[in-house]
Amino acid sequence: MDNQKVTTRHLQRRAYLYVRQSTLRQVIENTESAHRQYALRERAVALGWPPERVVVIDEDLGQSGASAAGREGFQRLVADVSLGLVGIILGLEVSRLARCSSDWYRLLEICALTDTLILDEEGLYDPNSFNDRLLLGLKGTMSEAELHFLKMRMRGGVLSKARRGELKGPLPVGLVYGPDHQVHLDPDQQVQETLRLFFATFRRTGAATATVKAFGDQGLLFPRRLITGPHKGELAWSRLTHCRAIQTLKNPRYAGAFFYGRRQRRKGILPREEWISLLPEAHAGYISWDEFEENQRRLSDNARAVRAERRSPPREGPALLQGLVICGRCGLRMSVQYRTYRKKIVPDYVCSRRHTEYAEPCCQRVPGRTIDEAVGQLLVESVTPLALDAVLAVDDELQQRADEVKRLLQLSGPSTRPIWPSGVICRSTLITVWWPIPWRRNGTIGCAIWRRPNGILKRR
Ligand SMILES: [Zn+2]
Repeated sequence: MDNQKVTTRHLQRRAYLYVRQSTLRQVIENTESAHRQYALRERAVALGWPPERVVVIDEDLGQSGASAAGREGFQRLVADVSLGLVGIILGLEVSRLARCSSDWYRLLEICALTDTLILDEEGLYDPNSFNDRLLLGLKGTMSEAELHFLKMRMRGGVLSKARRGELKGPLPVGLVYGPDHQVHLDPDQQVQETLRLFFATFRRTGAATATVKAFGDQGLLFPRRLITGPHKGELAWSRLTHCRAIQTLKNPRYAGAFFYGRRQRRKGILPREEWISLLPEAHAGYISWDEFEENQRRLSDNARAVRAERRSPPREGPALLQGLVICGRCGLRMSVQYRTYRKKIVPDYVCSRRHTEYAEPCCQRVPGRTIDEAVGQLLVESVTPLALDAVLAVDDELQQRADEVKRLLQLSGPSTRPIWPSGVICRSTLITVWWPIPWRRNGTIGCAIWRRPNGILKRR
């Protein structure tokens, strides 16, 4: 019966055997399936095609059938079918060819137009025959539905693990999975101390840009974990960028919280109420949950550049009220401009937003010298012994921070990745070798530390 569908017209053209397995793992481990797929070649020969006219397309091994995009073999097959070069397409089952209805129906349409037969393990079909076409259509729909159910089942498992906080995802630098599968601080002391210094600097400066500047000024590098390439998983050190600083500050993992579903492919980052899971105090962290919330509040305050309630972080310059003065006329925030008066730098508070944005005249300009004097006087009068203690404490803290930076810079000898505190030895231990890199900026000579490019990977 099947053989009657094959005519001389079909046999004059070539037979195409399409072989595909979804993942590289299947290709390596499930060799039986590949064997069955290649064995279909014998079916083509039995139907009358000479062996040399059976073309095997196996470029798509390891590619999913969810879409035709990226499947060069499938695209070549469709192109040759539409040119009328193919007499029959052989595939173990319909799902090998396409798991997407639109791809499948397009192929059926072209096969019907060019009178191309389709053969799977169960039979031979002529897309021009109504019954065969109906059956092929059903098989295509089933194969797409099968993919959908597979995805749903896997997604369901992931979601339920995420809601319990047990899903193991990639961790940001400074946090690692321990032998007990729990999240711990990275045992590398240099990484830990750099992250602690990072959060302390933000606590002090109140701005991501100022934190980046402080790291740059002190010649400190920030760790990152390589996620691709031959050195995947290793540590690398580079200059801290604003983007890295924001990512680090906004990552709830550093506050010991587990989260899942913060980002959606089409919508980007979602508001917190729409996340699938957020569990504070799920594991160890570098800052407390309260501090994390405070950091988010500060970041959003800094980002509100146009509102009157914005409190910009303090910058360099002697003006006392920078970022604090609001114009009494229009209610917009006033900026500071400096000028020299009798060899001294004095500030002026200027309401210039409308001038900058709409080229209108400046709203008003107030000499800052007298205002600052009055505010300074008020400040001195209200300073109490308590406030003096605070000043002394700040001085101590500055000294400690300078010592810390000095110590980090001096860590130029080889440092090994320490053993887990529990006494369990890490299976793969990375020996990080540091070397000093001298730098020169504005006449100052300093020294930065860098991981040696050929860091040795040793198993202990
Ligand atoms: Zn104004």
